[in-house]
Amino acid sequence: MVKNTPDQQQLHTLLLALLNQHSESLFIRDSQHQYLWANAAHLKLLGHKKPDEIYGKTVGELLGNEFGQYAQAESQSVLDTGQARHNREEPFHNHATLVSSLYPLLDPKTAQVAYVGGHSRVKAPLGAQDEQLAVILSESRCLLWEAMVLEWPLPPDEDGTAPRFNDNAKTCLFWDIHVVLPGAVRRWLPISWHEGQPFENALHRARHPEDQVQIDKTCIQALKEGAPSYQNQYRIQCADGTWIWLQENVTITPLEPGRWRLVGTCTDITSLKATEEALKRVLETAHCLIWNATIERRPIPYDNPDECQAARDQGMWETGTYFFWDIQIFAEDAARSWLPVENDPEQFYDQAIYEAIAQEDRTAGDRHSSKALLEGWSGYTQELKIRMADGKYRCVQEDVHLEKVGPDRWYAVGINIDVTERKQIEQTLAHQAQHDALTGLANRRHLQDALSALTPRPQNKPALLFLDLDNFKRINDNFGHLVGDQVLVTVARRLEREVGTRGLVARLGGDEFTVLLSDTHTPSEALDLAERLLAALSTPVTVQERPLQLSSSIGIAFGSTSSQADLLRNANTAMHHAKSQGKAHYAFFDPAMDQEARARFELELALREVVLSDNIFPHYQPIIDLKSGAVVALEALARWQTAEGSFIPPVQFIPIAEETGLIVPLGKSLLRTACRDLVAWRGEFPHLHLSVNVNVSERQFREPTFVQHIRETLRETGLPASALTLELTESLLLNDTEGCLERLRELDALGIRLTLDDFGTGYSSLSYLSLLPVKALKIDRGFVGKLFHHEPRLAAQNEMIVRSIVGLAKNLGIGITAEGIEEPAQRQHLTSLQVDYGQGYLFSRPMPQRDIAKYLRHYTATPSLRFAA
Ligand code: C2E
Ligand code: CA
Ligand code: CA
Repeated sequence: MVKNTPDQQQLHTLLLALLNQHSESLFIRDSQHQYLWANAAHLKLLGHKKPDEIYGKTVGELLGNEFGQYAQAESQSVLDTGQARHNREEPFHNHATLVSSLYPLLDPKTAQVAYVGGHSRVKAPLGAQDEQLAVILSESRCLLWEAMVLEWPLPPDEDGTAPRFNDNAKTCLFWDIHVVLPGAVRRWLPISWHEGQPFENALHRARHPEDQVQIDKTCIQALKEGAPSYQNQYRIQCADGTWIWLQENVTITPLEPGRWRLVGTCTDITSLKATEEALKRVLETAHCLIWNATIERRPIPYDNPDECQAARDQGMWETGTYFFWDIQIFAEDAARSWLPVENDPEQFYDQAIYEAIAQEDRTAGDRHSSKALLEGWSGYTQELKIRMADGKYRCVQEDVHLEKVGPDRWYAVGINIDVTERKQIEQTLAHQAQHDALTGLANRRHLQDALSALTPRPQNKPALLFLDLDNFKRINDNFGHLVGDQVLVTVARRLEREVGTRGLVARLGGDEFTVLLSDTHTPSEALDLAERLLAALSTPVTVQERPLQLSSSIGIAFGSTSSQADLLRNANTAMHHAKSQGKAHYAFFDPAMDQEARARFELELALREVVLSDNIFPHYQPIIDLKSGAVVALEALARWQTAEGSFIPPVQFIPIAEETGLIVPLGKSLLRTACRDLVAWRGEFPHLHLSVNVNVSERQFREPTFVQHIRETLRETGLPASALTLELTESLLLNDTEGCLERLRELDALGIRLTLDDFGTGYSSLSYLSLLPVKALKIDRGFVGKLFHHEPRLAAQNEMIVRSIVGLAKNLGIGITAEGIEEPAQRQHLTSLQVDYGQGYLFSRPMPQRDIAKYLRHYTATPSLRFAA
């Protein structure tokens, strides 16, 4: 085989053409750093078109800048050490192939020509290690690159769009970037890449143009600031048009001024980004902000006023240390959308938020978090008001989780949630709780809060005006509630207008209003206001096109230190007093007005005690057969003997007992005692056939267990039902006649006798009496007392009433008793009218239990004492 080899000259020309078109910049310089040769790519890099322009010149001369000097120095160092620096610094590069291909270009005569260089290198074929790396890179969807970055003068044909590094010096960055194992990268990042084109270029073109600006910016900033690293996130377009998100982490090693070595890793975060985007949208709609922070306890840098202030705000000044917070906000844009605080471009968003927190919340928050850190809490929650750029405030609830990760180091995660709306609802509810729904005025609770917050001073006393509309009920009844409400609203507005900011106007309910003046210097101030209010309310209100005259009564009370709680009650009492003087008046509170009410209240308390301790006993008053003079029965009358021995009359305490319901236990106790006593006396005086009359009040009678209780008491005490008479009042028959009748029949069926007490004073229809199982009537003592009235007309009228009552009783075949017989003449007359029984001081006053036996014995022994006719 004959080998057709080209001669040396042919080979030389071929190689030169090849290297000249090579995309990487290649050159040869001699020991004086003068160019002997450069390919097209290198010429472009230097900003020249023709090789002649550079031959014989040094890099320094051509560039005249730092980089030129650097390049020259580098050449020198290669000469001095005989070793190329890049072998040391650029482990992924392998120049062997390219450099060896340049050697044939060298003239053996110019052996001292020493330096051959290139800015991009051709790598060696894949070794076994590289194959392993390729698998790792494609499996983990990762990309590694390495770059030498140089600060470089702006090329003269620069169109103004390229990112500048230093505006003043007009420099940009020159990148010599190399992606490791592009083939492996293409397996998971299928960008469009033409063979023969550097992969790095294709990668650069595949970047999203919008992201490019950000990429350049962060890199330039990091290099300028001397940061050790920076991060980027950007999109890469694949050949099929789809986009892949990359997260790029870059570490920077500065080599010398204007020259850095950068190593970067990029990983596919497309799915992470999708999740993040979804989360962002959630955070955006839910008005939520997530952040994390590293916190360090550091000595206070006393020369830094900001940090000194921070130490003071945190309450840490004394300790000489403070907490340094480094905060990262997750998905800042999402937070900005709902938390648009004022944020100037120089300022980080988290700093802007911090400064927008309301001063008081910020200080409290700083102290709170410091306390949490010092005391080793696992977290804390607080509420912060944050001022938006438009001046409105949002309220944010912050939940922070803390973790101690070192002696003076913590890690924190925080979630801030917008609770503005919730707060507003809470405020509305709080407002509602304190205000009247109809008029919007303060309500009773609000007034009470204001009253208890009062602090009267010696000169200034609080005054309360209690205002009640006269005859408001008539308006409601005649015009309906809608009109009534309208009138109340009108009244509210008029009161507000008159009072203004001088006092608190409240509606207590219904047509009751109050005006609280927290400070009045003289009583006439309150008086003036009362007059103005009366005048303001006397202007007619137009209702259904007709003028409606209003009037109101006002009570005024002044507070003193001791009587805050009484203010409302006193003003109310005064108002009632004003009403009683005729309508459209005002009256000042006078302690005398109050005494009756107070006495009653005290009586009520005492009664409760005496009833519950079973300390009310019956006295007994005999009832006499008027014809024979025989004692036929004893009426039990309740007696309350005070500790001092005096008696409180039943007319005073029975009504209170009825109102309070105390009458029920009281009645039970009296009934039992009366029955027991009667059983004893009936045993001792069997021939008298005594029975007992017990008074029953309406409230007692309506108790569901009333009949049952009577039955039980009879059984317990052994008194026959026929020996018990219950005295009922007419009023009891007025209401609920059906249920009442039922009960009366039950009692009647038991054999108990029923008597109508105080007959003639009530309203019961006489005809109705025939339907009731009533066995007797008691003529009220009022009629008996008037039997011989000095006024003849009255005496005659009274006589007629008594006669008709007696006639009615006789008609119905029921017994009749006259009460209050004090004189023999009365007795005689009543006997002549055929009244059966009598009761009164003439025969005996009510006696205590211990005197009864003596009375009965005496009475039996001396028949003359029988009140025979
Ligand atoms: P009442 O049932 O009409 O009782 C008769 C009242 O007249 C008694 O007054 C009695 O002391 C009084 N009295 C009797 N004879 C004369 C007389 O000759 N002249 C005058 N001026 N008064 C006479 P008392 O004990 O003060 O009771 C007043 C009222 O209190 C009773 O009127 C009765 O309605 C009620 N009451 C008394 N005890 C009880 C009770 O245990 N239960 C109930 N529910 N009410 C009772
Ligand atoms: Ca009675
Ligand atoms: Ca009576």
